[in-house]
Amino acid sequence: MRILVTGGAGFIGSHLCEKLIGEGHEVLCLDNFFTGSKQNIANLLSNPRFELIRHDITQPILLEVDRIFNLACPASPIHYQYNPVKTIKTSVLGVINMLGLAKRVRARILQASTSEIYGDPEIHPQTEEYWGNVNPIGLRSCYDEGKRVAETLMMDYHRQNGVDIRIIRIFNTYGPRMAIEDGRVVSNFIVQALRNEDITVYGDGSQTRSFCYVDDLLAGMCAMMDRDGITGPINLGNPVETSILEFAQRIISLTGSRSRIVLKPLPADDPKQRRPDISKARDLIGWEPAVPIETGLKRTIEFFDGLLSRR
Ligand code: NAD
Ligand code: UDP
Repeated sequence: MRILVTGGAGFIGSHLCEKLIGEGHEVLCLDNFFTGSKQNIANLLSNPRFELIRHDITQPILLEVDRIFNLACPASPIHYQYNPVKTIKTSVLGVINMLGLAKRVRARILQASTSEIYGDPEIHPQTEEYWGNVNPIGLRSCYDEGKRVAETLMMDYHRQNGVDIRIIRIFNTYGPRMAIEDGRVVSNFIVQALRNEDITVYGDGSQTRSFCYVDDLLAGMCAMMDRDGITGPINLGNPVETSILEFAQRIISLTGSRSRIVLKPLPADDPKQRRPDISKARDLIGWEPAVPIETGLKRTIEFFDGLLSRR
């Protein structure tokens, strides 16, 4: 198949491009390089089945494809808050453009949604039936509300125009190729630990997250895309939950670092707890994560260690 991956030069997108090329597909990787990099896809550039398109999804584009994975959107709070109006344009205009493309060429389209659509959740763990608790006017709203509108657009194009859609709600995912300056907790803590710098825990570190290794996410994402007759939304994440303070201690012990933990102010609207209920993913696509956190973190630490030693 000919498959379009928007955001294909980013962290998750570059792994996805690699997986799809490995399966024998033709891949069009589209990216505006806001947070992605050519380095992430350097190993694919010489492959005749791989094509790189520098483009911004907020602008329309004419392509002929069988499938679309719409991943384009900055995912780290510091990046999506850098130009919040642009972030929401990416999730609204960008998604309209990608849905218009899918409609025209009758391509199946998957939207990367997020656990952030649950906001600061009042039910725990989060099931797909929960409508969320999102601040509509806060600093995170450009991302959270943008992704909520993206889901609405997907459902409306499906109901109104019969577009073949898939919605996945991705929970915190980590792995090699996260950017050093990405600003999310996994890359921050590992880079700080490897440099023996202070580990910056925001708030008192009692807030929780559940971390999923990128290979596990890709397996779920592709299973969802390949399955006929389902739209989602479906949660994809690892249900093993940890507090951010425990997570900092684990990174220190895995890296053998001399870093100290320091407490910094908690960003506004930072969700207090997050864990996916993945019953639906288990039932509908037979998916659950397989990579233990120790294994995934060791691979990620190795990646950052290599990156830092080459700097
Ligand atoms: P990332 O920032 O590494 O990748 C995003 C990619 O999209 C980058 O390559 C960036 O340059 C590109 N991009 C951004 N805006 C664009 C635009 N307007 N036009 C074209 N390209 C654009 O982030 P990631 O972690 O790889 O996330 C990929 C997707 O998964 C995002 O949609 C994100 O919201 C979603 N997601 C990720 C996580 C996670 O934990 N990693 C969790 C929930 C949802
Ligand atoms: N966090 C932290 N120190 C950091 C970066 C993040 O304590 O250097 C916290 C952040 O406040 C949040 C959690 O780690 O509670 C996860 O943050 P991230 O930005 O990775 O993802 P999100 O908040 O979007 O889940």
